[in-house]
Amino acid sequence: MHKRVFLNAMALAIAALSSTAVLADGNTFKIGLILPMTGQQASTGRQIEAAARLYMAQNGDMVAGKKIELIVKDDTTVPDVTKRLAQELVVNDKVNVLAGFGITPSALATAPIATQSKTPQVVMAAATSSITEASPYIVRTSFTLPQASVSLADWAPKNGIKKVVTLVSDYGPGIDAEKFFKERLIFNGGQVIESLRVPLRGPDFAPFLQKVRDLKPDALFVFVPSGAGAAVMKQFLERGMDKAGIKLIGTGDITDDDQLNDMGDGALGVVTGASIEKSIAPLRSFVAEPMRFGRMFLAGDAAHIVPPTGAKGLNLAATDVKYLASSIIEFYAEQSEAGINHYSDRCLRRIWKGERFSWWFTSLMHRFPNDGAIGQKLQEAELEYLVGSSAASTVMAENYVGLPL
Ligand SMILES: Cc1cc2nc3c(=O)[nH]c(=O)nc-3n(C[C@H](O)[C@H](O)[C@H](O)COP(=O)(O)OP(=O)(O)OC[C@H]3O[C@@H](n4cnc5c(N)ncnc54)[C@H](O)[C@@H]3O)c2cc1C
Repeated sequence: MHKRVFLNAMALAIAALSSTAVLADGNTFKIGLILPMTGQQASTGRQIEAAARLYMAQNGDMVAGKKIELIVKDDTTVPDVTKRLAQELVVNDKVNVLAGFGITPSALATAPIATQSKTPQVVMAAATSSITEASPYIVRTSFTLPQASVSLADWAPKNGIKKVVTLVSDYGPGIDAEKFFKERLIFNGGQVIESLRVPLRGPDFAPFLQKVRDLKPDALFVFVPSGAGAAVMKQFLERGMDKAGIKLIGTGDITDDDQLNDMGDGALGVVTGASIEKSIAPLRSFVAEPMRFGRMFLAGDAAHIVPPTGAKGLNLAATDVKYLASSIIEFYAEQSEAGINHYSDRCLRRIWKGERFSWWFTSLMHRFPNDGAIGQKLQEAELEYLVGSSAASTVMAENYVGLPL
């Protein structure tokens, strides 16, 4: 697991949940953070708690006038315990949010409680893709196993890996990782020659690794929960599988931050596909002018970006394509260059109107850090004018629906 992911997860969780809908009465906003602090998945729990506390140390513990209170509970990586703790946190502590969840069964065991009590459940680690479907109150701030697996299945064939054996823990995320890796590898021309599943609890990797050695694939793809990753790595190296030409690839769990230092140099050649960085795309306006460079014509997002509030990106892209298509037809069918010579100017007139509207609407609907009190008052006055004036509403409607072609 990666600390930066969790820092961002915490920021997102607090930001997403500070809406008035989930703020309890009183001045405290309580987050019940249920984590595996002991047991197989303890390193995940420790990292999430450390990241949450670091975020609060750096950014303070006040959001929207409420004091954030973290109530950390150790579920010992046992789903029944997670469920009991979630119940206690909702009923006794009256938490505003349930958060954490190291493994998929723990997240799923809590979903009915989130639904019944209408408590938002923020999943910060458990990675089976279907978790978010278990309750309308679940939001995930981390990642899914397919994301980490598919990227590797794209990378592998381009790097000389054609024949792969998969080895996963036999539960939701393992099956997710196996399925998505296999489908994508086959799509890319590769082959999974054997799919091995090991028990989730107390697995003995030895017979499985021996089988992999005998099969001599180009690579072994592994997903096991982070605690078990070090054991796989150790046994993989002890058997000299790396020296036998078998490459170890996997999701990020086999090179857990906390255990990496103890893995020795053998970990150096391992390739993993986990997301290690997340960011929120900045709101921005961009136009490449002109949109023609010799025989190259730019269209759509390649030529211009609008902030999303006006929903103009696809609209502008489609118009560029319409103009470009008719210009190209004119060029080949009628041997006329008028259309292609006029293409850039024709598009740009429309694009700048879209850029103007998108930026205006974004400035109206979003708060920016440097706006201050005056900025907020101006925004409120603009909104009031928009709602109260039929002239202003008509301008808004004309731009929003789309200017004529
Ligand atoms: C989350 C989100 C929500 C959005 N909502 C709206 C909305 O409500 N309304 C709206 O108008 N706009 C919306 N947009 C913007 C809109 O999707 C884009 O502006 C629009 O899709 C741009 O079209 P495009 O054809 O220029 O680029 P794209 O749709 O990005 O198409 C580019 C294509 O090129 C492919 N490609 C890239 N590199 C290569 C390569 N080397 N070889 C071959 N193929 C390649 C890509 O896979 C992709 O299929 C949204 C965008 C996002 C991300």
